[in-house]
Formats: sequence, structure tokens, C-alpha cells
Amino acid sequence: MVVPTTVFLISGVAAGIWFEEWVLALTAGLACSATAWCILQERASRKFRLWLRQPLNPLSRELGRWKQPANRIRQQMRGARTRSRSFAAMALRLRNIADELPDAWVLLGEREKVEMFNRAAERMLGLTSKDVGKRLTHLIREPALASMLASGEHERILETTSPIDDSIQMEFRLFPTESSETIVVARNVTELNRFLSMRQQFLANVSHELRTPLTVVLGYLEAVDADMDKPTLLDLTKRLSSPVGRMKSLVEDLLTLTSLESSPLPSPDQIRPFHGSQQLEEIFSEAIQISSGRHEFILDADPDLVIEAVPEELRSAFTNLVTNAIRYSPDGGNVSVRWTRVADLARFEIKDDGIGIAPEHISRLTERFYRVDVRGLRARGGTGLGLAIVKHVLRRHGTNLQIESEIGRGSRMYCFLPLSQQRRIAERASVASETAAT
Ligand code: ADP
Repeated sequence: MVVPTTVFLISGVAAGIWFEEWVLALTAGLACSATAWCILQERASRKFRLWLRQPLNPLSRELGRWKQPANRIRQQMRGARTRSRSFAAMALRLRNIADELPDAWVLLGEREKVEMFNRAAERMLGLTSKDVGKRLTHLIREPALASMLASGEHERILETTSPIDDSIQMEFRLFPTESSETIVVARNVTELNRFLSMRQQFLANVSHELRTPLTVVLGYLEAVDADMDKPTLLDLTKRLSSPVGRMKSLVEDLLTLTSLESSPLPSPDQIRPFHGSQQLEEIFSEAIQISSGRHEFILDADPDLVIEAVPEELRSAFTNLVTNAIRYSPDGGNVSVRWTRVADLARFEIKDDGIGIAPEHISRLTERFYRVDVRGLRARGGTGLGLAIVKHVLRRHGTNLQIESEIGRGSRMYCFLPLSQQRRIAERASVASETAAT
């Protein structure tokens, strides 16, 4: 800016010298340079105003003396832009995390108006972007929630059904924020409630199953008196063995089931060769004793088919299935078992021509204490845990029980077992460690 002003000053002075008027020359020079200075200042300030509209643009030389303050403004603006970008990225990240949460949350402003919510709230409460600004109590017509919001009861937990699906049970809680907003958190507790009621049902079943033999034992014990003769006392003691035995098998089955359920895979040191043919022969000789000649037994087992398994577990599962076949087949019935190799698998099959099972019960048979309510069946004994144990044993061996049955025609149950459990466990372990690493 100094250069053009000086040029004007020199030109003014030069003009004065040309006309040989010194005063005039000086005045003209000063006037010219002042005018030039004003023009240039005005131009620079216009450029500065223009630049201010987009203060992140590069600075031009034409800004003159405005360049220095402009530069400071630009640096501040750049810093602010970087900060706001990182805030925006952080907000987006938080938003994405909130969207990943399984629980629904809704942020309410004044008068319980919806300000924000996550994706779970869309899914579980049916909220949409159009609901922002509306009162939550107008969107979820639940009087208990309205009164909870009105009274601001933050300690309370409200349990109710989802506004969009009656089969979903929800738990609502309120959390106040520092800026006098309220966060409503809603959790899907359907599974938890199902689990709790299953546990209650299980305890009720165990108590019920134990009560019957216990009542019998108590009855016998009350009958004992000091004057009782020895033969009567002996007879009473013999009678006690049946209910006590029943309680013992129930407790044993429960313990077996608990230990099976607690570990989905056998540990490598539990795995040993399972000689199916030999084991089934032993199971059959026990079964023949239980049946006392009332049933016909047919065994078709490949003597060379030996697999890796937890032998005690497989034996207990197969024994349960054979016992059931006897228990649910009338006198004169046939029970046949096959142990054969099919490609890379061992196939176990048990067939009876007993009472059979109606189709509606088949999918539930492996539930704990599930029994088909047929007259006289309870009298046949059994804890109602046999097939649940079979299911867990087979699951631990990487397979499951297939059941086909027809009322009055009999049942066929079978499964395919891998030949090598060690390989299966190693594969499962490597998949689990890969999943954990990702
Ligand atoms: P339980 O101790 O009562 O036999 P399980 O769990 O072994 O308990 O079997 C569950 C129910 O499945 C039995 O109560 C019975 O109604 C039915 N069931 C199991 N095996 C057979 C079978 N081979 N034939 C007919 N019904 C069967």
C-alpha cells in the first residue's frame, strides 16, 4: 500500500516541478497521495468484508493492513471448525452406540415431549421420527406410565407390555438429567420372566415329585410302633425301599442334569473310546432282567464301530431310551436297537411297538418333567427327567435326538454321532477363540 501512495506522491511532486510551482507541487502530491491512500483503504476494507463472509478462504495481499487481524480470525475459525468436527464425530459415535443398545431409551424435554430416542425405542415402543415434539403419554397409552412420569417416581420400576406387541413384557424406569429432562429406559424382560417362571415351575415340579414318596415314607414311619412284631417291621422296611429308591433316582437324575447343563462340551480328558456293541449288550442284559421276559429284545450292533465319547454319559442316555421302550410297551412288545455306521457317523436307533406318542407332545418330550398324561403312566415310574438327560448328553456329543412316533404303533428314536469328539471339540475351541479375537 505504501508503494502506490509513494508513486502518487512522486507523480504529484513531479507535476509541480514540471509547472515550476513548488507549493502547488507539494500540495498536489499530498492531495494525490491522500486520495490514493483513502481509495486503497476503502478497497482493502471492502475485500476484508467480502472475505469475512467466508473466513476460512485463503488470505489475499489485497487485504492490506487487514491481513493480520484476518489471519488471526482465520486461525481461530479453523480451530473452531476442527473442534466442531470432532464434537460432531463424537456425537455421531454416541448416537450409534445408543442405537446398538438393546434397551430402548427416550429423552423427554419439558411437558414430557419426546426429544430423542434410539433404534430400540422404534422397535420396542413403535416411535418414529414424526413423534419428536409429541408428548410421550400421547404416544404410549399406559396410565401407570403417565402417573409415574407425572409424579417423577424415579425409584419405581414399572412392568407392563410393549405398546406394539402384547407378547413382549417391558420394564420402564425413569432417570432425571441435570438439565431437568427425563430419560425413559425400557427393557425387554420377556426372556427373563420366562426364565424366572421356568425356575419357579422347576422348583414346583421337584417339590411335587418329592412330596409323593416322602408322604408314603412318613406314613410308614408313623405306623411303626414299639410293640410291632419283627415280621411286620421287616415288611414295613421292605415297603419303604420303593419310595426311598424313587427319591434317590430323582435326586440322582437332577444332579446328572445339573452337571450336564453346566458344561455344553465335554473336556478332552473325559473322552475315551465307546465300544457301542459291547455297551449295548450290557444294557440289554440289564433290560432283560427289568422286563422279566415280558418283551422281546433284538440287537443289531456293528462290533467294529467304536467312537470317541464320554462313555458313562452315552451309556446312561442309551439306558434311559431302552428303559423307556420297555416302560411304554405292553407285554409281548418288541424292542430293537441298531448301532451302525453311516458314512462318517455312528447311527444309534431304538424302536418299539409300544403305546406311541401323539404328535403334539413330541417336541416337548425332552423338557424337564414333561410327561404325556396317559392314565396309568405315572404308575410305571420314571422321574420325567430321562429324555432331558438324553437331550443334554447328545448335545454335548454334537447331536440331537430325533423322535418319530404314532399312537398305538410305537416309537422310533435315533441320532447320528460323530466318530471323533476330540476333533469336534478342537474345532469348536478354535471357532470360539477366533470369535473372541475379532
Ligand atoms: P419318564 O421318566 O416319565 O419316562 P422321560 O423324560 O424319559 O420321563 O420321558 C418323557 C415322556 O415321554 C414319558 O413320560 C412318556 O410319556 C414319553 N415317552 C418316552 N419314551 C417313550 C416311548 N418309547 N414310547 C412312548 N412314550 C414315551
